[in-house]
Amino acid sequence: MTATLIDGKAIAASWRARIGAAVADLAPQGLRPGLAVVLVGDDPASQIYVRSKMRQTVEAGMRSFDHALSASTTQDELLALVAKLNADPDVDGILVQLPLPPQIDAQAVIEAIDPAKDVDGFHPVNAGRLLTGTPGFVPCTPLGCLLLLHSIRPDLTGLDAVVIGRSAIVGKPMAQLLIRENCTVTVAHSRTRNLPEVCRRADVLVAAVGRPELVRGDWLKPGATVIDVGINRVPNPAAGEGRTRIVGDVAFAEAVDVAGAITPVPGGVGPMTIACLLRNTLEAACRRRGLPPERWSATTA
Ligand code: NDP
Repeated sequence: MTATLIDGKAIAASWRARIGAAVADLAPQGLRPGLAVVLVGDDPASQIYVRSKMRQTVEAGMRSFDHALSASTTQDELLALVAKLNADPDVDGILVQLPLPPQIDAQAVIEAIDPAKDVDGFHPVNAGRLLTGTPGFVPCTPLGCLLLLHSIRPDLTGLDAVVIGRSAIVGKPMAQLLIRENCTVTVAHSRTRNLPEVCRRADVLVAAVGRPELVRGDWLKPGATVIDVGINRVPNPAAGEGRTRIVGDVAFAEAVDVAGAITPVPGGVGPMTIACLLRNTLEAACRRRGLPPERWSATTA
């Protein structure tokens, strides 16, 4: 069997087009959603990611506010900027790029962001809303994974889902979303016993581990839908000495013969994360102005 490829790049492009259309519909009312992105330091991977976010924000018709701060920024300086952005009426969404330099307590910064502008969905208020099943912002990566799953299986009711990874930004919110979708959810982590056996039960497997090709083909239930969140850089001697390539948490070449559908890495979950950030910013802009859910709900339906 050869699995269906879940083309995250194409699916993300179509969501961005829908979000762009919803943004254009707001323009006659003088409303243009705005996203502030704060980058502290000069980590090259973060710089690339932030640039991509800003470009796609503008392409979707939104305003992008760029705040690049030096690596020596103090916690008080960053908190002062967050307070300013919280109070700025043109800013609908605030994203502080992680990781932050060691002198800054990331959790304190996350908790300083107004939950109504927390488009990353990391604030404890939004995490609590997801847990209690009340409307709030859902972290972008798991939301993107859910949209990819829906592209293959619009109804996930009753399926056995296994999420490998229990981080606050991917694994835990992913599990909550799958519970909301009526799946029977198992969350696996580094202390899980007999992980291959646990994975073999999964109709839906989400791997968010950060271990290159940990999940082997023979860990999968035939026909399973596999979402690979992992982004791992590994040596690529075939391309020359010192060269690297990106692989996921799933051994793709093996998995493709067993799974029913699978996301590639790159080109799977990654592009969806930014699309969902734009989607959350649109929602934040509408909510803050008391606009009805019809203005943004079609961008995740
Ligand atoms: P974390 O390091 O925060 O969490 C990793 C999780 O995997 C932990 O819960 C850990 O368990 C578990 N784990 C580690 N090793 C094993 C193992 N051998 N067996 C089973 N479980 C294990 O990572 P993140 O959640 O932040 O990210 C996970 C991956 O997803 C990374 O590769 C990251 O780069 C990628 N990512 C991709 C994004 C995208 O846009 N595509 C966005 C965010 C992340 P324990 O809790 O016991 O330590």
